[in-house]
Amino acid sequence: MDTQSKLDILSRDAQYDLSCACGTKNPQEHRKRSNSSSGWLYPTTTASGGPGIMLKTLLGNRCTNDCKYCPLRNNQDFRPTALAPKEMASFFYEFQSKRPLIGLFLSSAVLGTPEKTMEMLTDTAKILRRGYNYRGYIHLKIIPGSSKESIDEALRYASAISLNIETPGLDHFSKLSDSKDYEHDILKPLNYIAQQTAKGSRYERVHTSSQFIVGASDELDREILLYSSRMYSELHLGRLYFSAYQRGLGDPAIPGEEITLSEQLSLFPDEVIPTSNTNILTREHRLYQADFLLRKYGFGFDDFLFAKDGNLSLDADPKLVWAQANPQFYPLSVKRASREALLRVPGLGPVYVNRIVKGRREAPISCLEDLRLPSSVLEKARPFLTI
Ligand code: SF4
Repeated sequence: MDTQSKLDILSRDAQYDLSCACGTKNPQEHRKRSNSSSGWLYPTTTASGGPGIMLKTLLGNRCTNDCKYCPLRNNQDFRPTALAPKEMASFFYEFQSKRPLIGLFLSSAVLGTPEKTMEMLTDTAKILRRGYNYRGYIHLKIIPGSSKESIDEALRYASAISLNIETPGLDHFSKLSDSKDYEHDILKPLNYIAQQTAKGSRYERVHTSSQFIVGASDELDREILLYSSRMYSELHLGRLYFSAYQRGLGDPAIPGEEITLSEQLSLFPDEVIPTSNTNILTREHRLYQADFLLRKYGFGFDDFLFAKDGNLSLDADPKLVWAQANPQFYPLSVKRASREALLRVPGLGPVYVNRIVKGRREAPISCLEDLRLPSSVLEKARPFLTI
């Protein structure tokens, strides 16, 4: 099989891994890529906010682990495919010299042992950095159970790394995998990554991220967001991703619904999303909104309001829910309210708040129209503002 054919197979499997800069404006974009001719090329957003393309793939797809939500788990019957580090490095280097790419996102199923897999991932990056003098973006996935030495080696060559936490806590985790150890394989490496990339440390420059899988266990949004807020504040994580579990993908527990890998993959992107998955996709969307509030809007975990079932409202975004529960906070004066307060106004994001703060310094405001906001934004914000 030539390298491109292998990439066609391996990149389809990589679509479940969102922990990268790919398509951050729209995580659903990952799924749409699976049916395109070069599924290993992903639209992404550059550091300056412009569009770009990332090559994203696994190095190998035959996993020794048994995660019940994953179509690559060890008891599946499908053709194993793998790329050697030299093969991957030379293909990527040749490809990006003909067509501009933002960089490489490299992940893998666990190929034998975590150490062996990490060696393959890191060797690919090492060949690119040392052999080809490649200076662009490389994201390496950290395999669960990796040693400190393997993580150090990845940090040496990567621009960004990620290790998926998958679930908020051991109880949920143990429902999804018998072969992985939450404390040893996930939490300890995550803590080590935090130390090595902390401000002032040797690898401060390396961006870090992680991912929760949503709805594969009976975890609650409340638990996910509690873990999320702690991962940002205590582990100084750069970014979190949320991936809605797709019923049927690797789920061995649904009687009479065992399906092959190719059938599982054909469920993606959105032609056949079982009704029961609709809520999970909406949960994923609400979690992304809440995550933005944590990272960009000054919200803390205690600001979130949950329904009786422990989840965020499916019907309204978490910022609107907070605003409706705190009528005493409004209306805010657009002339005097602080930037932090304005960020609590439904409809206003950091860009529009900055525009208001700058605009009111430069010219008098006599009505809300003077803010020169798009009409859809203004109508959403209007009930919460005053002059
Ligand atoms: S470790 Fe688990 S989630 Fe990752 S590829 Fe293997 S089975 Fe899938």
